[in-house]
Amino acid sequence: MDNKSGKVIVVKIGGATLGSHDTIIEDIVYLQQQGKSLVIVHGGAKLVTEWLIKQGISTRFIQGERVTDEATLKVVTSVLAGLVNKEIVAAINSLGGQAVGISGVDGALIQGRIKDKELGYVGTVVKVNIAPLKVLLQSGYIPVVAPLSLSLDKPDEPVRLLNINGDTVAGEIAAAIVAESLIFLTDVVGICNHSGKLLPHLSPSEAEALMASGVVSEGMIPKVKACLRALSSIRTTRIIDGRKPHALLREIEGKGGGTTIIKKWGNES
Ligand code: ADP
Ligand code: MG
Repeated sequence: MDNKSGKVIVVKIGGATLGSHDTIIEDIVYLQQQGKSLVIVHGGAKLVTEWLIKQGISTRFIQGERVTDEATLKVVTSVLAGLVNKEIVAAINSLGGQAVGISGVDGALIQGRIKDKELGYVGTVVKVNIAPLKVLLQSGYIPVVAPLSLSLDKPDEPVRLLNINGDTVAGEIAAAIVAESLIFLTDVVGICNHSGKLLPHLSPSEAEALMASGVVSEGMIPKVKACLRALSSIRTTRIIDGRKPHALLREIEGKGGGTTIIKKWGNES
């Protein structure tokens, strides 16, 4: 069971698939026991909204990005790096797996800058430091990453954290670690066309066109962008239905369904 120096599979677990059933966690533990190296990145936007409501903080989105003031950032950090991350880590460890939860801030894994002043403390990735992931993987742990980033903006600024989209983090990590594959587990069958029919294979330019025409919208946009980003250094990116039991295991067995975005056509070597 040794793939410690081998290629890594980066899996993003979507908020909607989280907690719907435990087969994703079972699959993660099983794959680890089979010697696969996994990095898990999670979302949790819906739970963040629930906790913002509990705190009486109103929230709004601009093009799918949560406008993040200081009070919102505190809730985002607490819910993502706290509750959501620890529940996933606890679930993996209690099923006999070995996982360590970190956020993009830990070990300066994800380093970013404010993307757009209008959005507040929302980051764009400037640099990825994969060293903490390597240390964990080499020691046999699955890193479970909460999507936050260390802020590289103004050293005198008291706020050192940035809220960052989980899909973006997954794409950046996959690119930086030169992953074997990048897999998004989400709450739809894959990328669908204008009439809702699954598109099993897309080239980067076809994916770009779907964004430009608005067929790919909202939460699918950061996924497609993350796939395109990752394809600068990896070969295969996948967007699959995480609602199906054992979706991840089926995917690794080559029976995942969903959408593949790949760079090369014809001359695969
Ligand atoms: P996750 O929690 O997995 O990040 P999101 O809600 O952010 O989930 O993104 C998935 C959503 O993207 C789908 O539920 C769907 O509403 C939306 N979406 C937008 N365009 C498309 C498309 N062309 N094909 C499939 N889903 C799409
Ligand atoms: Mg999303």
